[in-house]
Amino acid sequence: MKYYSLNKKQHKVTFQKALISSLAPDNGLYFPKKITPLPYSFFETIEQLSNEEIAFAAIQQFIGDEIPETNLKQIIKETLCFEFPIVLINETCYSLELFHGPTMAFKDVGARFMSRCLSYFNQHNAKTTTILVATSGDTGGAVANGFFNTENVNVVILYPSGKVSDFQELQLTTLGENISALKVNGTFDDCQAMVKKAFSDIDLKYKNLTSANSINIARWLPQMFYFFFAYRELKKHNKSIVLSCPSGNFGNLCAGILAKKLGLPISHFIAATNANDTVPRFLVHGEFQPKQTIATISNAMDVSNPSNFIRIQELYNHDLNTFKKDFSAYSFTDEETKDAMQLLYKNYHYVSEPHGAIGYLGLQEELKKKSDSIGVFLETAHPIKFSEIVESTLQINLAVPEQIESIMNKEKKSIQIATYDQLKDYLLS
Ligand SMILES: *Cc1c(COP(=O)(O)O)cnc(C)c1O
Repeated sequence: MKYYSLNKKQHKVTFQKALISSLAPDNGLYFPKKITPLPYSFFETIEQLSNEEIAFAAIQQFIGDEIPETNLKQIIKETLCFEFPIVLINETCYSLELFHGPTMAFKDVGARFMSRCLSYFNQHNAKTTTILVATSGDTGGAVANGFFNTENVNVVILYPSGKVSDFQELQLTTLGENISALKVNGTFDDCQAMVKKAFSDIDLKYKNLTSANSINIARWLPQMFYFFFAYRELKKHNKSIVLSCPSGNFGNLCAGILAKKLGLPISHFIAATNANDTVPRFLVHGEFQPKQTIATISNAMDVSNPSNFIRIQELYNHDLNTFKKDFSAYSFTDEETKDAMQLLYKNYHYVSEPHGAIGYLGLQEELKKKSDSIGVFLETAHPIKFSEIVESTLQINLAVPEQIESIMNKEKKSIQIATYDQLKDYLLS
């Protein structure tokens, strides 16, 4: 499969090249040249398929012959080593829990898939690759875990100082070995800007930099798997399905829309955001105008200039009107988010964390207009990852799961930086 850069469409590369370079030389995001819908029969019999079979069918065309079938199946098997339960909230509403992986966030899927693809391509290559990644919280942990002790790979994580939760910081800073954490005086967007700059810096060319942010196709594409899993579970209700995705950098939602392009019968998508509402405003005014990033209690979505939104527009040929038929966007304040967490807990005994609660709120808005539909929101992280806010909002104590318990007493190690030059010096040292 070939990928083109969204900046200059004639520049085409393989899956391997797109994975390794992350961004095209013209700084555009890579996008698959061709998207072939899956046959109707696939959806007719989807309930007979396992997660691994669904995933293989969905992603095979995007890899082509670059990874042999047996290796790709093994990569998928190792990626999907945990459950994706769909939990009933009430008659019309479900939660798709994506947090049962090793770092308890949905990003485990993309990070695990990408690290294994990179290992496959690196088998016969003794050069060291440096994964440079900006995180608003969960990416860093998932990437660190996914690439921990991978041969010939170093991981450098940039995270905004004081803007990630305590557990998230533990996950970023306690692994050591081939994983280093840089604590940046600034926001997630500042971290992301530094990463982008490093990629276009000639002096760093020989360092083989790769990104593991959702801009990387190998992280983005596998995220479509669980949209298919959700459909497999909800199909029996014979109702149209609305899916709400709490969104920050819009990689997750973009994967869902790709799944729809492949024929997945999800009738409507909701982008649910916190106060960083660039996309909801775009849908109203047709203008993409990022503002200064605002810090919220759903910090993994504190993104004002979502990188992947351009891919969503490409999936709709940049036609806002067709796009609006399939898509709505809503933003919510921290107060509304906390109210939703309390409502979910009081009425349905469901403990959600702020991101999932925003997904729930977005879904409720849309279901008001679509009384004959059922809906599912993505619960993107385990409540323990946001324990401070969950415990104070719900007045409960959360049990600490084993994935977190094992790192609680480890020492956090990170290096504080404030400028791009400090990042560069670090990478060159
Ligand atoms: C990363 C993240 C999001 C946002 O996902 P995007 O793909 O960037 O839109 C939402 N919730 C949680 C918990 C996350 O970690």
